[in-house]
Amino acid sequence: MDLYEYQAKDLFRAAGIPVPAGEVAFTPDEAEAIAAKIGGTVVVKAQVHAGGRGKAGGVKLARSAAEAREHASRILGMKIKGLEVRKVLVTAAEDIKSEAYLSVLVDRKVQAPVFIASPQGGIDIEEVAATNPNALRRLRIDPRYGLLPHEAYAIADFLYSDPALALQTTRIVALLYGVFVENSCSLAEINPLIVTPDGQVKAIDAKVSVDDSALRHLPNIEALRDLDAEPPAETKARAAGLSFVKLDGAVGCCVNGAGLAMATMDLVKYYGGEPANFLDIGGSSNPDKVVAALEIITSDPSVKSILFNIFGGITRCDDVARGILEATRRIRIEPPIVIRLTGTNEKEALSVLAEAGLTAYTTMDEVVQKAVQLAAQA
Ligand code: GDP
Ligand code: MN
Repeated sequence: MDLYEYQAKDLFRAAGIPVPAGEVAFTPDEAEAIAAKIGGTVVVKAQVHAGGRGKAGGVKLARSAAEAREHASRILGMKIKGLEVRKVLVTAAEDIKSEAYLSVLVDRKVQAPVFIASPQGGIDIEEVAATNPNALRRLRIDPRYGLLPHEAYAIADFLYSDPALALQTTRIVALLYGVFVENSCSLAEINPLIVTPDGQVKAIDAKVSVDDSALRHLPNIEALRDLDAEPPAETKARAAGLSFVKLDGAVGCCVNGAGLAMATMDLVKYYGGEPANFLDIGGSSNPDKVVAALEIITSDPSVKSILFNIFGGITRCDDVARGILEATRRIRIEPPIVIRLTGTNEKEALSVLAEAGLTAYTTMDEVVQKAVQLAAQA
């Protein structure tokens, strides 16, 4: 789960990382009021889950509250990388002497947190990596010991040779690592980390991504979720206990088990089709889940055929069949459904399906070929 800049800055601020004062606004009126409260020059910043807002015109300096209001009315409703801006952060403007980059992320390749730092900040870090790799430093943190004091200092010293700046930054590096670990982050990023003309080091942008699997232990983070910003299908899937990822193809997939779901998607591609989604209904035997799954799949207009691939282990095939039947009664399902089920209670399942005039395949190859063919014909 990605946090908005203002949410990430709240975490930083609470941890003691220096961040300029600011508040989120949903209307130009609110933006004006916040700007008046802060006083002086402020920055109005689009809050969307995308980088490069500055380049897209979503970050504007305002010298007065009235100007903040004008910027807010222009930025609210604008689209950045396809995402509609519904809120802005109004924050005290800083004078900038230099911009650096600092982040810590989970690096799967080295199986550990890795800090990335560059004295060339403010811009895309990928660009720095490509054009000037020496201006970038990576440091793997041994998760058994956590960030050690000399490591924090080494990162800070790489960013700033001035000892006064390096000292402030050592503290920021340690605090950032604390935020990262305590909130099970996959990424905590400051870009840019700035130096002000009077020699203070501050974070003026913040990006935090939290591991979804950890959210049930982090109620304060879970509460920050913005349901308006995520596809309704994903919200519904989460509420129903389904793992769902929307994709671009035409074959809607409903599978039990993540491994089988991935194998099914591979086979769809192998036979020339494209999956419309990843969907794992899990190991339970609850017909309601199947109904929810079909509601989600059929709400996607690009789905042209629906493929069930069920291996009955803990999941009972007849429960899935009942769920399919129940769904056909409750909702109108336009695309053809093809089913493969095998395993526990397979026979019972087939007689349940027969009631609805449905049949089932027993091999994956057959059913996937059929689903791909039906999607292509539609
Ligand atoms: P991003 O483009 O989405 O990464 O948004 P940022 O928050 O990083 O802002 C983009 C750029 O706007 C920064 O790199 C700065 O150059 C500039 N900027 C942002 N806040 C301030 C500020 O308080 N004062 C000044 N002078 N520039 C700012
Ligand atoms: Mn930035």
